[in-house]
Parts: sequence; structure tokens; C-alpha cells
Amino acid sequence: MILPGATIGVLGGGQLGRMFTLAAKVMGYQVVVLDPDPASPAGQVANVHLKADYRDAVALLRMGSLCDAVTTEFENVPATSLDMLAKHCLVAPSPQALAVAQDRLMEKSRAREFGCDTAPFANIESEADLAQAWHEIGAPALLKTRRLGYDGKGQARVNSLDELAAAFAELGNVPCLLEGFLPLEREVSVVLARNQADEIAFFPLAENQHRDGILDISIVPARVPEKLADDARRMAAGLAHGLDYVGVMAVEFFLLRGEANASNENTPGRIVFNEMAPRPHNSGHYTLDACATDQFQQQVRALCGLTLGDPRLLSPVVMVNLLGDVWTPQPDWNTLLRHPGVQLHLYGKAEARPGRKMGHYNCLAPDLADALALALETRAALGIGA
Ligand code: AMP
Repeated sequence: MILPGATIGVLGGGQLGRMFTLAAKVMGYQVVVLDPDPASPAGQVANVHLKADYRDAVALLRMGSLCDAVTTEFENVPATSLDMLAKHCLVAPSPQALAVAQDRLMEKSRAREFGCDTAPFANIESEADLAQAWHEIGAPALLKTRRLGYDGKGQARVNSLDELAAAFAELGNVPCLLEGFLPLEREVSVVLARNQADEIAFFPLAENQHRDGILDISIVPARVPEKLADDARRMAAGLAHGLDYVGVMAVEFFLLRGEANASNENTPGRIVFNEMAPRPHNSGHYTLDACATDQFQQQVRALCGLTLGDPRLLSPVVMVNLLGDVWTPQPDWNTLLRHPGVQLHLYGKAEARPGRKMGHYNCLAPDLADALALALETRAALGIGA
């Protein structure tokens, strides 16, 4: 167990690293952040900010010698950096778990192995694989780069073999997955924490709505039948256990539309795994104000080998993301903050750019319908389009 007073570290100084750092400091830990950006959101609040590249051996050595344990806020950390750090301190999640999250083929294959349903998928390494993949998946389909895709980037919808070939070239002939395009009813996520003792704590399911491929709002509790929520938790736990995962992870699922059966009744639909994030997640930011323990306190607890905190939901909540698009030059904070049920979180980013995550706010109300109404009303008042 690594107890308060000790020093812990995070690779990456974005908003997730910042919220981890703040949570750790509240609990009495010292925090080291590694991020090359001198103005990084987490660097601003850390005890020590190492301003160096993620592959910088000297900085990694310093981090490893200062810290008892290190975690990460992003999945694409170079494996060699994690291996270097792991020689000096505890690293969680493990380099192996991160490697799975870095590659959609590995991710979906392991997810299936550990009991998750997924969309049908086929691997495409080169042009030679296109025809076979098309034969297996067929129209409609989504082509996704295996690596470095995020917020809907690095993917294309295709309806024929010709379109597939063109999209593959457009994405740079890099290794891809071709996925069957599924009839989505809703998108939901499960944020969970697992510790070394194989204890798992689930935060309530979030129902997520996106705009232009970026998360827009999360509605909690998600409006899905309890049986399907159980399926999502079971699959997420199977994956966490199978990967021997230690830390907080988010698992994104699709709820598929039910189909009319022989007697013309609608079947209830089905839960299908989409992807995992080996870290806290944007769709878990509602926990900051609405749960007994939030996802960043939980990340500290899991990393430090403590008992996991109570993930219970204390109030219905709707989270709204604030992107740089509404900085013209600043959102009208008064409009937002005159509502007592609104909790604002800004990430300390000086420069606002379209699509850049600048902050979020949580709308709390005793009733989910009221929380949603408050979210939609404030969102419209801030000029975030419908
Ligand atoms: P991803 O990068 O895999 O999270 O995909 C980005 C978005 O594309 C998801 O949030 C879904 O809205 C949509 N999407 C991804 N995969 C599929 C699929 N197999 N079928 C239908 N929609 C999908």
C-alpha cells in the first residue's frame, strides 16, 4: 500500500492528468507530472512538472526515482518508456494492458476472448486483404485505423469494395479493421476500477451522446433496461479480469436496436463492446460531483493499492462538454453559474480551438428529467447547437 505523504506520478499533463493530480493532492500525495508542454493543465497543479518528451530517458529516470507508483492519462505511451519506469517503481495499468488498448485488432480480439460481444470485424494489413475483408463483412461497414484513432477520427463508412479501397488509400494504407456497421439505439459506457486484489467497483452506466464524433453529453443513470446494464458490467468485468487490469478503465458499448420478432414484438436489443480506455474517461466526469467517490480519487486508490471507494450515485446528473468552439472569446459564465445545480470544471487551457476540450459542467437535480432539462437549457444559452 502506498499511503498519503508518498509521491506518485502521471504520464501526460492534459485534463485527465490534472484531475488525477488534484484528487491525489487532496488525499495528501505529492504528484509528479511528465509532459513536454510547459503550460500543460496538470503541470500547473503538480508538485513537480518534468517538461520533457515521453521517451526522454533522463526524465523517466527522474520520475521513476521520485515516485512510488506511476499511472498514465493516455493510452499511446511508448512501451519502452513504461518498461523503463517499471524498473524503478510500480506502473499501473501494466504495459501489456496499455498495448491492448493501443490497437483495435488486439482490443477487439481480447475482448471477445474474455466474453464480450463485438461487431463482426476483419483485419486489413495491406491492399491484398481488402477483397477477403469485404467478403467477410460486406455492406454497410466502417473502416477504422487500428492505431491512433480517437473522437471518430481515422475512420470511414464504406458501401462497396471500391469505396473500401479508396478509403484505405485515404487513411494512408495503414493497418485497419473493417467492422460491420451496426444499428445503434444508444451508446453507453461503464467506468470501473480494479485493484490488485481483483476487487472491482463499477460506476453507474453513462448514456453518451456525441456531436461530430466528440462526446457532447452524458446522462446518468443511463436509460437502459437493467438486464442490459448487467450485461455491460459483466463484459467490462470480464475484460478487466482477463487483462489483469489494475486502475480505472472505461469501456464503451453500443446498445443495438431491438428487432421485431415472429409475433411482431420488439426484442429488447443487445449490448456490444466497442472499445476500452485504460484510464479515467470523459464519460466519467459526472462522478466528480454526483458519486460518493469520483473516478480520479478511485484512480489514486487503485494505483496505491487502497480499498476502492464507494462508487454510488448520489444524484441524477447530466454532464455537458465545453469545447473551444464556444470561446468567442469566453462563454457567458454568469448564464451558467446562476443555476445552483450547475458545477463548472475548467481545465486551465489558455488557448481555445474548435473541438478542443476546455472544460465541462455537471447538472444535478433530484430528478433525471430535470437534470436533462437544465443541461439542454444551459447548453442552448451558451450557444452550443442542438
Ligand atoms: P469509435 O472510434 O470506435 O469509438 O467510433 C466512433 C463512433 O462511430 C462511435 O461513437 C459510434 O457512434 C460510431 N461507430 C463506431 N463503430 C460503429 C459500428 N460498428 N457500427 C455503427 N456505428 C459505429
